[in-house]
Amino acid sequence: AKALGKSRYEVFDRTMHVQAVGQLALEADLRRALQNQDFILHYQPIVDLRTGDISGLEALVRWQKSTTELIYPGDFISVAEDTGLILDLGMWVLREACETTRAWQLQFPRERPLTISVNLSARQFAQPDLVPQIQHIIADTGIDPETVRLELTESATMANAERAISVLGQLRSLGVRISIDDFGTGYSSLSYLHRFPLDVLKIDRSFVLQMDNAKEGLQIVHTILNLARSLSMEVVAEGVETERHLRKLRALGCEAGQGYYFSRPVNVAGIQALLASPPEW
Ligand code: C2E
Ligand code: CA
Ligand code: CA
Ligand code: CA
Repeated sequence: AKALGKSRYEVFDRTMHVQAVGQLALEADLRRALQNQDFILHYQPIVDLRTGDISGLEALVRWQKSTTELIYPGDFISVAEDTGLILDLGMWVLREACETTRAWQLQFPRERPLTISVNLSARQFAQPDLVPQIQHIIADTGIDPETVRLELTESATMANAERAISVLGQLRSLGVRISIDDFGTGYSSLSYLHRFPLDVLKIDRSFVLQMDNAKEGLQIVHTILNLARSLSMEVVAEGVETERHLRKLRALGCEAGQGYYFSRPVNVAGIQALLASPPEW
C-alpha cells in the first residue's frame, strides 16, 4: 500500500513539482534582476488622432536577462505579482518613467506636455501605502502630476468598489489621472462605472480587431465611445495595427490611439528619435 501511495504521489505531482521548482527559480532570478537593475523600460507612443501628434507614452517593462535576451512581461509579471516582487518593480517603473519623461518634457516643450502612462497591478493597488508612495515619487522626480496617468484594469478596481473609489479619489487629489486599461475585457458593472473617478478609457485591442470583420465590431467601438463621452472620459484605442483601423477610428471620432501601426514599444533612443522628428500620421 505504501509503494502504491508513493507511485501515485509521483504521477500526480510531477508536473506540479516541475512548475513549482520553475516558479521558485524564476522568483530567485527576478529578485536578483531587481537588485542588479536588469529591468528596462520601453515606451510606446499614444497618438492624438485629430492632429497626428504624439500626445503621450506608455511605459512597458522588459527584463534584460543578458545582452541578447529580452524577456517580455507576459513571461514574468504574473510571478512578480504572486511573489509580491511587483511592489518594488512597480515603484521602480514609476520612478524611472517619471524621470525619463520629465527630461523629454523639458527637451521637447509644447503646449500640452507629453503624458506618461504607467501600469499599476492589482497587487500594487491593494497596498495600504500606495498613495503616499506615489506622492513621494512625483515629488522626487519633479514631474507635473497632471501629465502622469496610472493604468488600472477593471478587475483591480472592481474587487472592492468602495475602497477603489476612495483610493482613486486620493490619487486624483495628487493631481494624477486614472486610466481604465483593457476596457471591455473585465466585467465592470456599468452601474458602478459612473461612481469611479476615472479620466481615460482604453478600449481593449480585441474590439479594435473586431472592426475588421463584423459590422457589430464597429458598433461595439461606437457604443464604448458613447459610453466614455457620457462619463466625460477621454478614449484611447489600443491595438491600432493598420491604416484601416486608423481610418475607422477617426471616422468614429475616437480621440487617441496606440498600436503597431504607429510604433511598437521602443527603447529610450527610439522615442528620442520619434520625438525629435515625428512621422506624419
Ligand atoms: P497592456 O498594459 O495592455 O500593454 C499593451 C501591450 O500590448 C504591450 O505588450 C504592447 O507591446 C502590446 N501592443 C501594443 N500595440 C499593439 C498592437 O498594435 N498589436 C498587438 N497585438 N499588441 C500591441 P507588452 O509590453 O508585452 O505588455 C503586456 C502586458 O504586461 C501589458 O499589457 C501590461 O498588462 C503588463 N505590463 C507591462 N509593463 C508593466 C508594468 O510596468 N507594470 C505592470 N503591472 N504591468 C505591466
Ligand atoms: Ca500631423
Ligand atoms: Ca496598459
Ligand atoms: Ca491595455
